[in-house]
Amino acid sequence: MNKVKIEVCSLGILPRDFDKKSLQRAKSNIFEVTSALHSYDLRVDSDLEMWAYSDGLLASQTPKKEDVDILVILTAVPLQENYYTRRLDNNVVIFTFFEISRYLKFEDIPLENVVKRLLYSYSLVYLRNQNRIPTSDQITNFTHDDTRGCIFDMNGVKEDIVYSCHLPIICDECCERMRKERVSSETLTIAKSELRKITKERFYVIADWIKRYPILSILISSAWALLLGVLGSIIVGLFYGE
Ligand SMILES: [Zn+2]
Repeated sequence: MNKVKIEVCSLGILPRDFDKKSLQRAKSNIFEVTSALHSYDLRVDSDLEMWAYSDGLLASQTPKKEDVDILVILTAVPLQENYYTRRLDNNVVIFTFFEISRYLKFEDIPLENVVKRLLYSYSLVYLRNQNRIPTSDQITNFTHDDTRGCIFDMNGVKEDIVYSCHLPIICDECCERMRKERVSSETLTIAKSELRKITKERFYVIADWIKRYPILSILISSAWALLLGVLGSIIVGLFYGE
C-alpha cells in the first residue's frame, strides 16, 4: 500500500508549547509528512460570532495544496460552530488548538499527540472513502458519539478528546466498518500498533499511576527504602568485616 502523503502547515500563531519538529520525526507506514511545517500568517479578522472563522474565510487563506493527498492546516482560532476540525474541499482539513490545548495541558498530554492522532484518523478516512475526505457539510458516519478512546470518537463534549490522545485505539466497531469499506486488515493492524506510540511522557505516566494507586505507591517506596537500608548495612559489614 502506498503511504498517504500529507502536508502540514500552520495558519496564524500556534501555542508556544507545540513542537513543530516532532511531526517530522513521526514515522508511520500509513502516512508520510512530506515536508517541514510551513507557517502562514492569518491577516484577516473573524467573520462569525464569538470571534470564529468560517470555512469559506479560512479556505481563502489556505495555501495551494501541492502534490499531496491531504493538506492539514493547524491554527488556534475558533472554527465554525466551535468544532475543533473542519473538513474543506479538496481534501483540506483544518484543526484548531482553541480550547483543545487547555484540555491537553491539564492532563499533561503533549500538544503534538492530538495532531498525530488526527493524521491517523484522516489518513484512514481518506482510504475508506476512495481517496477522498468528505467536507464538513456532507453527511458522514465515520465517527461515533460514544467516547471510547478511539480515534473516531465524535468528542461532542470537546474535553473528551483527551481520552484519544494518550494510547488511542481503533475500536472494534470502527475496525469492522473500515473492513467493509475496503480498508485492508494489514493497514488496520499497522495503524493500531503505531497508535500505541502516542503517549504521555513517561514521567506523567508514572505520576498518573501514583495518583491512581497512592497506598500501593507508599508501600512500594517504603519497601524500597527498607531494602536500600538493608543493602547499605550489608555493604558496611563487608567493608569492616563485621
Ligand atoms: Zn471507534
